[in-house]
Amino acid sequence: MDEYGNSGEGRATRRDEAVRAAVEQGLLGPDSPIVGLLDVTGIRESAAELRAAFAEVTAPGTPVLHAFAVKATPLVPVLRLLREEGIGAEVASPGELALARAAGLSPAQTVLDSPAKTPAELREALALGIAVNADNPQELDRIDGLVRSAVSRSPLGIRVNPQVGGGSIGATSTATATSKFGVALRDEGAREWVVRAYLDRPWLSRLHAHTGSQGIPLSLMAQGVAETYALAEEINRRIGRPQIDTIDIGGGLPVNFASDATAPTYAEYARALREAVPGLFDGRYGLVTEFGRSLLAKHGTIVARVEYAKSAGGRAVAVTHAGVQVATRTVYVPGSWPLRITAYDGKGRPKSGPEVVQDVAGPACFAGDLLAEGRALPLLDQGDYAAALDTGAYYFAHHYAYNSLARPGIYGFVPDRATGVRFATVRDPQTLASIVAESGGAHAGALTTLHAPGSR
Ligand SMILES: *Cc1c(COP(=O)(O)O)cnc(C)c1O
Repeated sequence: MDEYGNSGEGRATRRDEAVRAAVEQGLLGPDSPIVGLLDVTGIRESAAELRAAFAEVTAPGTPVLHAFAVKATPLVPVLRLLREEGIGAEVASPGELALARAAGLSPAQTVLDSPAKTPAELREALALGIAVNADNPQELDRIDGLVRSAVSRSPLGIRVNPQVGGGSIGATSTATATSKFGVALRDEGAREWVVRAYLDRPWLSRLHAHTGSQGIPLSLMAQGVAETYALAEEINRRIGRPQIDTIDIGGGLPVNFASDATAPTYAEYARALREAVPGLFDGRYGLVTEFGRSLLAKHGTIVARVEYAKSAGGRAVAVTHAGVQVATRTVYVPGSWPLRITAYDGKGRPKSGPEVVQDVAGPACFAGDLLAEGRALPLLDQGDYAAALDTGAYYFAHHYAYNSLARPGIYGFVPDRATGVRFATVRDPQTLASIVAESGGAHAGALTTLHAPGSR
């Protein structure tokens, strides 16, 4: 355990107390059978660890922007909390930019990356002064036009793909030879094209790569950053001045889903980078990082009531209210995204007793809607609660509207002297009226007004 308590003991204790308090205070119960919980203390700790890790390896005075990848947890109160912790935002769509602005993030704290930016999005970003990384030559053409037609304060760069290879999960590997992201650096002529792009455009001052994510070993991530740094050095040498003044190393630090421990830590990654790429930290380059999952995943918990406990073919099955709508990746690709499940009794107290191999099922109407299959846990009974851990990123904030299941309420929590645990609403549970409205409720008769010629 290091100075930040990375063994995760404090985290597990806070989580258990929050589950009990959520039941006691009525956030969870028969009529509100699922919630998402966010550990505010843990989020602040991770933000502090991130800042400290890079402060330790960078030369004094180096400008560093940690931009949280909004797609990991697109919730305005989370972005505001991170802003208070000195963390900016990396956005990849008009929606994410709107969330960052609603949270009060300034253009200087915001970076826009996305593989499909429209001319209007680019124009707005440049008008606001938000940093933009061009994904490809066609996008750079568009930016050329905008830069010619109006002055912009936006720091501008190009995203490259060092093609260092993928990890154990294809869908989250961004640096494969055929990845859709950035300029594929090892393709014939690509490196020279990038160098020329900078030679021809004195206003291009940044270089970006994101070679994560989950399933990628640290050494491969460090290699991606090393190749990006080497390219920046080559470009600045060819130009004869330090035109590239900032390197955006992306995010992608993997998360440990097997226990409460934080592993790897930001400190380990920062030290691995300093080892692999010492020149990156000697003060000649400003840094941007774009961590998502590693900042939030371990601070979120889905808690769902067991509506029914049954048995089928000799297997115990707990039918809960958490399934594909809140744990989409786990349900569809269980081999790559297993989640830890803990069992609580009807009062929200950790359940003990002999472990029984059981399925923890969700509420959706298809057979594969399982949070966990054949998992050994204290036997879940009707009225108990099952919690899916480490779900603060890419889970309950990423609702999937299968079966028109409502988005659950999300609550942040901190320990509290008077009440044990204090909650604040991050997102209200979705109402049925909202489900109807999002499902074309305002256009109920629309299709009956359409008739093909001659049909009536
Ligand atoms: C998704 C993404 C990130 C964040 O990745 P994590 O694995 O959540 O840290 C950062 N940068 C870009 C460009 C991304 O697409």
